[in-house]
Amino acid sequence: MRQKLVAGNWKMHGRLQSNQQLLQDVLSGVEQLRGMAVAVCVPFPYLAQAQSVLTGTPVAWGAQNLSEHAQGAYTGEVSATMLQDFDCRYVLVGHSERRAIYGESDTLVAAKFAAALAAGVCPVLCVGETLAQREAGTSVEVVAAQMDAVLQRVGVAAFAGAVVAYEPVWAIGTGRTATSEQAQEVHAAIRAQVNAADVKVGNGLQILYGGSVKPSNAVELFGMPDIDGGLIGGAALVAADFLAICRAAVR
Ligand code: PEP
Repeated sequence: MRQKLVAGNWKMHGRLQSNQQLLQDVLSGVEQLRGMAVAVCVPFPYLAQAQSVLTGTPVAWGAQNLSEHAQGAYTGEVSATMLQDFDCRYVLVGHSERRAIYGESDTLVAAKFAAALAAGVCPVLCVGETLAQREAGTSVEVVAAQMDAVLQRVGVAAFAGAVVAYEPVWAIGTGRTATSEQAQEVHAAIRAQVNAADVKVGNGLQILYGGSVKPSNAVELFGMPDIDGGLIGGAALVAADFLAICRAAVR
């Protein structure tokens, strides 16, 4: 049985002092939770803080982006080995905000995924369709193409060391959540796509749902057979909400 994972994406929020409080509050609630995994993906400058507060606790941490390059003259970029220096377990790859605002293509996302894996950092590959694509009835095809770009680059075996997050763009930060049936349909399609290449990898793959997950909808979403937890944006900034979502992932 796949373990559930709830990962917070802090996006570009936080300050040293408020982070300290948030991390302590999350820790004090998480220690009672068993049988699921929790992580927070923080802005780069706060990785050292996350490492210092969370080392030796049940909460893992990670980053929200990385360079596709190993090192070199890439001003402003952060490599996978730098993330490894801060013991990051996870890194988000291809978040829709990176794709839409910073123009990250499927090819670049696949290269970043490969760079994370090469450094032993688990990529959380974010995929999802826009509202226009959903309305056109192409959600499954769009997500399959995003998955395929990475499968072609790294091969299916690489997904044994990765996580996928289905995040419909129209549900991110909008308060509009996919219904559990809409999410399940795409999750099942993602799993079927990976299963077609390797059943063991597909059946073991954690596929998270992201997009306005709240304490009020988490239980139903996480109850679906192919939804293995959540990637949580806004609600991850409020300890009580994040913890309530974590509790929804406890079987
Ligand atoms: C996200 O940023 O990955 C996300 C899911 O955001 P929100 O939960 O705020 O929709």
